[in-house]
Order: sequence, then structure tokens, then C-alpha cells
Amino acid sequence: MNVNLDQMNLTRRPFIKTVVGASLATMVARAQEPSNPEKKLGWALVGLGSLSSKQIAPALLNSKHCKLVAVVTGTPEKGVKWREQYGLAEDKVYSYESFDKIIDDPDIDVVYIVLPNSMHHEFTIRAAKAGKHVFCEKPMANSAKECREMIAACAAVKRQLGIGYRCQFELHHQEAMRLAREQVFGPLQHLDAGFGFAIGDPTQWRLRKALAGGGALMDVGVYALQACCYLAGEEPVEVSALETKTDPVKFAEVDETIHWMMKFPSGLTANCLTTYRFSGCDHFTAYGSKGRFGMKPCYGYSKLAGWTSDPNIPLSFPQTDHFLAEMDAFSLAIIEGRRFEPSGAEGLRDLLVIEAIYRSIASGKKERVEKEA
Ligand code: NAD
Repeated sequence: MNVNLDQMNLTRRPFIKTVVGASLATMVARAQEPSNPEKKLGWALVGLGSLSSKQIAPALLNSKHCKLVAVVTGTPEKGVKWREQYGLAEDKVYSYESFDKIIDDPDIDVVYIVLPNSMHHEFTIRAAKAGKHVFCEKPMANSAKECREMIAACAAVKRQLGIGYRCQFELHHQEAMRLAREQVFGPLQHLDAGFGFAIGDPTQWRLRKALAGGGALMDVGVYALQACCYLAGEEPVEVSALETKTDPVKFAEVDETIHWMMKFPSGLTANCLTTYRFSGCDHFTAYGSKGRFGMKPCYGYSKLAGWTSDPNIPLSFPQTDHFLAEMDAFSLAIIEGRRFEPSGAEGLRDLLVIEAIYRSIASGKKERVEKEA
């Protein structure tokens, strides 16, 4: 399906207005019952690792607007297993080498990239060249330069590029955006956010810079960055960061723990932490002039909990499947010819902040965030 993306250059702000402009009842209804019940787009999953197996494929089984039609894997035996498990046709298992043949497969509308971070760039561009819409896992790529090339490749063929920022489709986060935007607790003065966990297996790709692009910051720090930006409704202009490393062998190539501060144009400040050293850091707190609200746990797949400083303003919702919600939203945007957010432009803005954080660690000084023209 095609959609004209010319003249569409949305920022975080209009997206936040769109989402939180709806009533809560509508939001819950939307999350559970998307419109256009008949139409389903065909999705191909690239990379059949943990996320694809445990979260994405099960979510696709419950989708109203997506169906799993193909898989792309480097392991033929895995392909056979997936074909049997999900009832895929014989010719719907592609390898990384035969991937480009999807250009001749009209059943595939959307390619979902679920590979190590360094591979997002290559496979997004190949999918775009095959004329497919692309949904790409976070972080969007290993550099802002790669992000720009991915955006250009999709724009050149007028296909959508969505980023898997699933929290933006979760009800607590959506309500938190409304509380921030409508200044229910007054204008925000300060944000505090953190996400991390104690990483295990020292041989995994997440600890290899060439594959992961970085450590905790690229992997989970991006959730705290995202929360700050969608609560702030603006982009940080300046960052100051400090890295600490307790295990220089395990974390020889990537960051272990990073503390960073951000300054926004309105004067709002944010204090953030990300780590591969310990678990339990999983929260945000938004400080307004008239009160506070926050979430803890905040960024996992389930058991999320919100709170506010006013007992009459709860921040509590049923748990939902974030992957189902974001994939249905992406399909629906394509079906209805609307621009999907968060798009590649938002993934790029986050990489620009991440790059400023790494520059600040290297220079030991505060650094400006490069602005996208
Ligand atoms: P994983 O290690 O479980 O799976 C990676 C897949 O890529 C495997 O199928 C593996 O075979 C394949 N692969 C191809 N080339 C590879 C190589 N050179 N080295 C290693 N693996 C290779 O990883 P995952 O947890 O499924 O993460 C995949 C992507 O999804 C990452 O970008 C990650 O950041 C993202 N992710 C997002 C969320 C979320 O909540 N949105 C959660 C987990 C992971």
C-alpha cells in the first residue's frame, strides 16, 4: 500500500497532541479495538531472536491489522520451525542473502527489522529498495548518519519508516503525556528518568560495539531519553554526561553506566541514568510547579504502575500488549494513508542526543545537541 508522505514533517509535539487529545475512554477503546476490522497488512519479520519469538510473533497472532506472512533468517532450521509453527507457505522463508527477492512478493507490505542494532541500517535500505514499508526496532541505528540514510531511502520510494518505541502506545505513558501537555500539575520543572538491568552473558552482541553501537545507553537508556522528550514535548539542546565502569573487561567495548543531564529550550531540566550493572532502575518522575507524577516500573512489557501526588488524579490502567498496539497502529496508518509517528525523524533526533551524550563523556564538558535542519 502506498501513501504520499510529501509535505509531512511532524515533530514530537503534534504527535503528543494527537494521542492525548483523545479522552481516556477513547484511548482504552482504541488500544483494544482498532477500526477497519477487515483489513490486514502482511508483515515479514527479519531476525528470529528473543524479541521476535517471545513478543512480536505472539502479538501478531492477536492482531486485527497485521498478519505474519514471511520470515527472514540466517538459520534455515529456524525457518522450518517458524514455517510449521505459524503456518507460513513454503516460499515465505527468506535468508539474509535472498531477502531482496521480497520485491516480487506482493504478500509482504511491511518489513519489521528485529536484528542487532548495526544491521537496522542495511536491512531498512534493502527493504525500502524492495518497495516495502519498514518498521524498525530501537535504537533506530548506530549513528545519526545512518538514520538520515534510512529516512532518505524510505522517502525515495514513498514508504513509511516507523520506529518501535512501544511505550508511546502504552496507556500509562499516554496518560502521562496528557498530564504533562495539559499542565495538570503545572508546567514541568524537572524530569528524572532511568532504565537499566544487570546484563548477563559476556559473549552477547549487546556488548560488541560493532553490533550494538554502544552499551546501556543505546539499548535501554533510550527509553529514559524517550520518556523525557515525550513528556517535555520538546527536544533537549544541551547535555552533560558522566560514564562509570566497574568491569573494564566485560565492558571493554561499550558503556556500562551513564548519568546524563539535559537542558530543554523552555528551561526544563532532566536527570537520567542508564546501566548494565544493576537491575531495578526503571522509572520516571515528572516534577511540575503544582505536584508530581511518575511511573515505576515503567518500561517493561507488563506490570507497569503509575502514581501522582494527587489522590484524586490516578495514573492507573489495565496492562496492554505494547507490540500489538504499535504494530496495529503502523498498519492502520498505512491503510488510512496517514503519517505514522514515531517515525524515522524521531529515531534520528534521539541518535543526535545520544551522540551528544557520548561526545560529552569524551570531552568531559557539556555539549550542544546537533539540530536537524
Ligand atoms: P537477539 O539476540 O535475541 O536476536 C537477534 C537476532 O538477530 C537473532 O535471530 C540472530 O540470529 C540474528 N542475527 C543476525 N546476525 C547476527 C549477528 N551478527 N550477531 C548476532 N545476532 C545476529 O536480540 P533481540 O533481543 O531480539 O533484539 C533484536 C533487536 O530488537 C535489537 O535492535 C534490540 O534493541 C531490539 N529490542 C527491542 C525491545 C523492545 O522492547 N522494543 C526489546 C528487546 C530488543
